[in-house]
Amino acid sequence: MTHKYEDPEVRYTYRSSLVDKLREKGELQVGRLRLLMPQSFGFCWGVDRALAMVNDARREHEGRSMWLLNSIIHNPRVNEDMGGMGIQFLKGKQAVPGALQSLSKSDVVIVPAFSAMVEEMEDLKRRDVTVVDTTCPWVIKPHKRAEKYVREGFTTVVHGTVGHDETRATCSLVRSLGGEFVIVHDLDEAEILAKYLEEELDSTELLNGLHPKSVRKNFDPTAHLQRVGVINQTTMLASESRAIAGRLRAALEKRWGKSELNERFRDFDTICQATQDNQDAAMSVVDSNPDLFLVVGGYDSSNTRNLARVGDAAGVPAWHIQGPDCIHKNFLEYRERHTGEIKTQQNWLPQGSISVAFTAGASTPDAILGQVVERVVSVAGESLGKPV
Ligand code: SF4
Repeated sequence: MTHKYEDPEVRYTYRSSLVDKLREKGELQVGRLRLLMPQSFGFCWGVDRALAMVNDARREHEGRSMWLLNSIIHNPRVNEDMGGMGIQFLKGKQAVPGALQSLSKSDVVIVPAFSAMVEEMEDLKRRDVTVVDTTCPWVIKPHKRAEKYVREGFTTVVHGTVGHDETRATCSLVRSLGGEFVIVHDLDEAEILAKYLEEELDSTELLNGLHPKSVRKNFDPTAHLQRVGVINQTTMLASESRAIAGRLRAALEKRWGKSELNERFRDFDTICQATQDNQDAAMSVVDSNPDLFLVVGGYDSSNTRNLARVGDAAGVPAWHIQGPDCIHKNFLEYRERHTGEIKTQQNWLPQGSISVAFTAGASTPDAILGQVVERVVSVAGESLGKPV
């Protein structure tokens, strides 16, 4: 049975025959280049579904003003396309000033796949607009678990990114239920939290070591870190999420003893399947030790950033690029993982026979990945017309 959201219009708008070929074969020799593609990459089910829902809504509400609460997904090209379809933005860089305050019953508002903050949803309800909620079902999973933690008196530790739409939504839910949260971005921040739990750091050292917005105002570590439950933003690096949960479990066991662990610690893996599949497949492809690993996706895309870390971990030169315009013969524009800065790398493409592995984030259309592959082939002085 065809699922309602397997809308061919979505698949085909962003399709690339070159990527289809690489998907089928896994690799392609083009002159001096061996092009490698993992078994899983690119658009996930949740993104396909969100875009299909937008198409459905355009048909259903033709003639009405349509708005996106914020980016539909973290990909600039797809968001530009939304604008091209006449859908305007209420928040973010492309927001129409004052539009949010002027919404009325005749407007249609699309909630992105990452979900929205409780306050935002309440505001839309108050304004009586028609809401098209594309929240991915995988994003609901951490929400449900956080609700359970609040009900059972646990503070929610989110392995996620402060300011990321999904984590903002999760934390607002916790807040609305009267619970507490702590956001840890990576293993380094989890270590600071673990040291506090082991009584090796005091409250001030803990709060100074974390992002200022990782907890809510008036968070009291002494009162609020007696019992903790861990979840993850759905798109984090799965291996790091597991390591963070393990570290926090060990810290609580050290402090309170094994007999109290069940009363003081909970852990639930909320990484989504697409993220896990793309990371596993990327690991397999970098295991073959390519000369380069190009990871394609929006610079603000969490799952794409974490795919680039897979290459780092394997010691393979990994570059997170946004699209074909980043690729030049003598330099490459990329996002530096540690600082988030956009930088350039000279002489990025080695001479001679080389293997180049690719992958793409869950919000990256095949069409963009295909243009990246074509551009690499072109700057390497080869031609796709003559695959060997
Ligand atoms: S990456 Fe995962 S959580 Fe995000 S939209 Fe895709 S399936 Fe849903």
